[in-house]
Amino acid sequence: MVNCIVCGSRDPVAVGFISRLALGNEEIYSLFKCPSCTQYFIEGYEDIFISLNGQDDITWTQGPYDEKKGALLANLIKQCPDPGNKFCECPAHVRFFKEI
Ligand SMILES: [Zn+2]
Ligand SMILES: [Zn+2]
Repeated sequence: MVNCIVCGSRDPVAVGFISRLALGNEEIYSLFKCPSCTQYFIEGYEDIFISLNGQDDITWTQGPYDEKKGALLANLIKQCPDPGNKFCECPAHVRFFKEI
């Protein structure tokens, strides 16, 4: 579980996730909304396909996004027919990664 990157709240709500392929690795972007400060943020997770020197998975956070932007991102995830498909190139997928 991830804490809010703005206010540190321990209960951000997972809104959705979307995957993409980047440099041969799968990246999964989970969108969270914080009920305390109403900001959105993303927790990214990269599943390293080719592991050099025993390095495994990488996670990071990005944002925050205000309510308007966060709602837009949540909506784009909903528009994608298959957000967990890293090969999907639908307009919502493309736009999501332009917006963040
Ligand atoms: Zn917060
Ligand atoms: Zn898509």
